[in-house]
Amino acid sequence: MVVKVPYFKGQMGADELERVASVLESGWLTTGKVTAEFENKFARFCSVSHALATNSCTAALHLALEALGIGPGDKVIVPTLTFTASAEVIRYLGADPVFVDVDAETCLITADSIRTQVAIHDSIKACVVVHFAGQSVEMTGENGVWETCQKLGIRLVQDAAHAFPSRDQYGPIGSIGDVTCFSFYANKTITTGEGGMLITNDDDIAHRVKVMRLHGIDRDIWNRFTSDKPSWEYDVVAPGYKYNMPDINAAIGVVQLDKAESMRKLRQEIAEKYLDSFSEQDCYRVIRSRVKLDEHAWHIFPIILQGNLAGSRDRVISMLGEKGIGTSIHYKPLHRMSYYRERYSLDAGAFPNSESYWQNCISLPIFPGMTSEQTEYVVQSLVELGSV
Ligand SMILES: *Cc1c(COP(=O)(O)O)cnc(C)c1O
Repeated sequence: MVVKVPYFKGQMGADELERVASVLESGWLTTGKVTAEFENKFARFCSVSHALATNSCTAALHLALEALGIGPGDKVIVPTLTFTASAEVIRYLGADPVFVDVDAETCLITADSIRTQVAIHDSIKACVVVHFAGQSVEMTGENGVWETCQKLGIRLVQDAAHAFPSRDQYGPIGSIGDVTCFSFYANKTITTGEGGMLITNDDDIAHRVKVMRLHGIDRDIWNRFTSDKPSWEYDVVAPGYKYNMPDINAAIGVVQLDKAESMRKLRQEIAEKYLDSFSEQDCYRVIRSRVKLDEHAWHIFPIILQGNLAGSRDRVISMLGEKGIGTSIHYKPLHRMSYYRERYSLDAGAFPNSESYWQNCISLPIFPGMTSEQTEYVVQSLVELGSV
């Protein structure tokens, strides 16, 4: 029997519909009160002083590096095992990425790899870390990335596109560090269709991001209509960007934020089933979780083929496809992408952990609406494949 299991399926409820309808009825469609409400709620959720909504996580990452003063001639460390957005924003500013490998078991960047690169290159100004699959990079302590960056005098941007909501001993993700960026793209853990959020405790960074998010104008357009100064009174202090989030999208976001933890729990149940089923199998391995299971956002769940199945990723993906199971791959590492490979003369031999991971990784379906029958079917299909 074939049970159809899509890789991902989004779920919008009556509450999202109702909030969006009330924005449409209000006549105010762009950035306004609802975006401010979303930002305030998000800042409280993350225990930070500033949350600034954008139209994507890519925009938020760009604004973060811009606010930190990254420019031509600077170098920024970034893991090779990530989506291109984490690195492309470094190029937007004329700076250059320095790619590093990730830990073989956790797929996370380590403090050691940052120390090594800072010892080799003198113009490293910042590091972009990725909380891969939804678990926090080690931030605090002697091997913590945040402590290490502070010691080395470099700035830290966290790409938390996979990691909302998640936490570690220090608290919610993004509650420490210079700047943290989240994605609300259609298939992320909470969504606004398209959208992003930048959080920080630094007033200067927040001010710069606010200005650059909307054309380099010194106060936001919405204030023009609510403050008592004349509406034409504004100044342009830099050639900024058009990165604001419209109220239509924020209306979806405020509702999704309320559901974030309950949806995370549903993904955790699927993850626990996968963990139980695959930890005993010779031909499958899972990413080691360095945080507690309920601190993990469980955005993606990759299994890594080994033993008899090592090297058969494409064959396994098509066999799962025939059984009606959708899968994905996260990620073909950036050192394999022609732009980065050619521009920076990158050699796959320098990234052994990301290489062996990507050659054998398959991301399994994991989404809140997935039924236990579907989860069981995915498990059974993989167990069968592994036993032939
Ligand atoms: C999705 C994603 C992004 C980009 O998010 P957008 O909101 O689509 O710009 C950046 N980094 C990582 C790791 C992602 O998965």
